[in-house]
Amino acid sequence: MPETETAPPLAGRHALITGGGRGIGAAVAHALAGLGADLTLVGRDEAKLEETAAALRGSALVAVATVPGDVNQEDSMAAAFDRAGPVSILINNAGIAESAPFARIDDGHWDRTIATNLTGTFRCMRLAFPAMAEAGWGRIVNIASTAGIKGYAYTVAYCASKHGVVGLTRALAIEAARSGVTVNAVCPGFTETDMAARAIANVAAKTGRGEDEARRELTRINPQGRLVQPGEVADTVAWLCLPSSSAITGQAIAVAGGEAM
Ligand code: NDP
Repeated sequence: MPETETAPPLAGRHALITGGGRGIGAAVAHALAGLGADLTLVGRDEAKLEETAAALRGSALVAVATVPGDVNQEDSMAAAFDRAGPVSILINNAGIAESAPFARIDDGHWDRTIATNLTGTFRCMRLAFPAMAEAGWGRIVNIASTAGIKGYAYTVAYCASKHGVVGLTRALAIEAARSGVTVNAVCPGFTETDMAARAIANVAAKTGRGEDEARRELTRINPQGRLVQPGEVADTVAWLCLPSSSAITGQAIAVAGGEAM
């Protein structure tokens, strides 16, 4: 780099993104690469991870690795962190969303949701935090949801898991406050990804209405009358990772067109 050019703000930082192969995770990967961070993308779908990594390698001058990992499996995630090497930015993005009326939520639905969204997030934080604290710098951003700060019908397990993620975020933020590590949650409203597409198809199937009407129903929840775009969530995540965001910690920031305030 010519001497007159300044290094991008996250140059020399290494970010690990769970579920980095698609949707919000892939958008976050692009945003962090744009700020100069090297990346490790973790997930179960290795082909999808490689596809996203190839696009990143073609568009940004950062190192991009992919590592298979299932946030539900402690051994799998320990191995993934080992392979990734020291991490200074952790984005806990992996998540699942299932819906059902309260009385029909069985233990399997409940356990899968809590295991992936809440325990998976806790597990990755536990794997990443000690080295960040030791280094005196780190950023943890948990992708929660507006379902982490308000309730929605038919999503008891999902709302409970995401409220848990917000609680976990706030508690570690206090414990970490003097360590140089910030811990925040980003809470998207309905965002245009495969997850939202599945929710729209589900509403259409269960109500007998068409997908257009189901989509209108979801967009009506957002005061701006639209779905959030993955890039908008990613830009908020990237902002929290900047060195200049060091006073922001323990926050749950809604990216939802005013739906939650
Ligand atoms: P997608 O369904 O498009 O992507 C989900 C991601 O999570 C995939 O990359 C998937 O990777 C990963 N994942 C799921 N389970 C596991 C697992 N056990 N181990 C590792 N990775 C896993 O959803 P979004 O991009 O929309 O969602 C990303 C996050 O944003 C989730 O936490 C979700 O709850 C949250 N969110 C989404 C909203 C929306 O409307 N879309 C709104 C609010 C929050 P792979 O298949 O490779 O394992």
